[in-house]
Parts: sequence; C-alpha cells; structure tokens
Amino acid sequence: MRLEELTWPELDEIKEKLEAVILPVGSVEAHGRHLPLGTDVFSPVEIARRVEEKIRGRGRDVLIAPPVWYGHAFTLNIYPGTINVRPESLRMYVGDILSELASEGFKRIIILNGHGGNIYPLTEAAEDVAELYPDVEVWLINWWIDFRDEILSVCSSQGHAGEDETSVILAIMPELVHMDNARGRKTRTPVRIIKKDIGKELFPDGVNDDPRNASAEKGEAILEAVSEKISRLILGEE
Ligand SMILES: [Zn+2]
Repeated sequence: MRLEELTWPELDEIKEKLEAVILPVGSVEAHGRHLPLGTDVFSPVEIARRVEEKIRGRGRDVLIAPPVWYGHAFTLNIYPGTINVRPESLRMYVGDILSELASEGFKRIIILNGHGGNIYPLTEAAEDVAELYPDVEVWLINWWIDFRDEILSVCSSQGHAGEDETSVILAIMPELVHMDNARGRKTRTPVRIIKKDIGKELFPDGVNDDPRNASAEKGEAILEAVSEKISRLILGEE
C-alpha cells in the first residue's frame, strides 16, 4: 500500500494493522556516464515495493510513504545534475516527516536509504524523533552496507555506480542504462579528504568501481536477497 494512494478514512482504518511504514530516501546525483541521476531513489523505492509485496503475500501489511528525492551529495556535486542539499536541511526536513509519521501513530518507521551522503543527517533526524517519541523506533537501513554479504555473494565488487548498483538499475529500468558508457575503477585515499573537487579524484566520471560485469540477473538476485532479508526482519523472522 502506498500512502499517497489512500484516502484518509482508508488510512485511518488500516493504520493499526500495519507492521511498519517505509520511507525511501535518496539523492539526485551523478552516477557515471551510464546510470540515471535518480539511481539512489529508484533502488530503495523498488526494494520497498518488493518488501511490501512479500509481506502482503504472508498476510501482513506495510505502508510505503512517498520518497524523499533530494539528499546530501557534497562529493559528487562537481558533476552536472547533482542536486546537493545541506545536511542540516535534510536533517530538519526528514525529521519533520518522521515526527509527522510518529504523531500519526506509526510505532515503527523504516528509513530505506539509497545514498551514502545521507547517513549522518538521517541518523541525527532519527535521534531527534526518538527523543520526542520514546515509544517509536526508527530503523535506518543503508541497503548496500547492511546487506553487503548478500550483495557480495552475487557481485565480485560494489561501489558508487559500480557492479551492484548498475545491476540493480539494469533489473529495474534497463532502458535508462547505457552499458556502452559503463567504465570505472576502485579509487581510495588513505584517509578521508574533504575538499571541493575531491569527487574528481575519488569518483572519476562519477564512478567508484568497475561496472562492466553488471547484469540484470545479478540485479534481480540482489533485489530479491535484500528485500527478503528486510521482510524477514520486519516480520521478526530473523
Ligand atoms: Zn548510488
């Protein structure tokens, strides 16, 4: 079920029976020359859709809230199309959404995050809400980190616009992927360096991994493994 498709009396009636509400959060950000700018939203929205379907198939329900599209994307802001929101703006905005969901009566709110730059602001937003609503729990799922083992059992590596992310988008919307432009490699600095154009070194062309071995089959396997794992966590089976 999607929040935006319900009427308020419909929501009021089912609210009590929901296992959780899922809020996908992403970023509009450069993902190489081969992936769409909306990659970090498309992935968690698709994972949420699969989780909802799986849970419904087991006779229970979760609600999916409309996604938050814009995130904090300092590093890749040097590339056209990256829309960077300040961390305090994201913290306040998502904090307000979480508070509203909590005041609606939702006791378990799951932030399904698709973007690394969001992790600190989202953690802070969740802490703000936890202080205000002691009976509410917020889960912050960073799918590519929390389920790294599952992902690396499918892919040989993972990274920004890399094999895992490219595979996932190939599985969801292959028409938006330009595999003929897919290239990249792992780049690291020995310590974290923050400077205006660090993205050029760390993410040449907006990539930090080799995406050439990506495939829709791998993407399907990742989406299946991650959504199954999240469903089992929600249902208390893990
Ligand atoms: Zn991404």
